Amino acid sequence: MSVNQAGNTVSGRLFILSGPSGVGKDTILARAERLVPDLRRIVTVVTRPRRDSERPDVDYHFWSRDEFERGCQRGAFLESAEYVGNLYGTPRDGVVEAFRAKCDALLKIDVRGFRQVTREHAGAVSVFLLPPSIDVLERHLRTARPGDGREDIERRLAAARTELSAASEYTYRIVNEEGNPDFAAFRLARIISDERARSAPRLVTLRT
Ligand code: 5GP
Repeated sequence: MSVNQAGNTVSGRLFILSGPSGVGKDTILARAERLVPDLRRIVTVVTRPRRDSERPDVDYHFWSRDEFERGCQRGAFLESAEYVGNLYGTPRDGVVEAFRAKCDALLKIDVRGFRQVTREHAGAVSVFLLPPSIDVLERHLRTARPGDGREDIERRLAAARTELSAASEYTYRIVNEEGNPDFAAFRLARIISDERARSAPRLVTLRT
């Protein structure tokens, strides 16, 4: 639940989930969302082409690079980053709306986005999802999206190695053990409920 809705600011809990591409963030999130009420996942704006499985405005907001750059200029993003040639950004309005609705917000963002958000908002609570090993991650990347080109997979793997070294910067870490996504989802849901139960809540305040 969010609290402190006063004047021209709004406050709430801001959860960040990161982890390398292919680690299973979407699966874990979908399962954790079923376990936790009043949690709103903020839909990212992206300039990359939509994958067949993706629903516009549900999985991502798909914008042109032009639209994205104009959004940057008017301060529409809480954070933004370029990832393997495409731009990704968290719409600030999405977080403000979640807090207004007395929901906690959850961002699924990369390590650079995490660093940008926490630099400005020390109250954000961050969770890094780890694969059991880099070999497992590589296998998932190669089999889960057979449509992706070899070069794209290599770039995602290189990005993953860099991202994994940042895991220690996060408030919490969860290993997504193979064949047991429910366990990782349960851990994530547990972290969220434990944070909600803190007597000194960690909150983020945004101007409206
Ligand atoms: P994908 O293209 O595979 O869906 O996502 C690629 C990477 O972009 C993932 O590591 C994902 O966490 C990250 N990402 C997704 N949304 C955002 C966002 O809003 N901001 C940032 N900085 N990274 C994001």
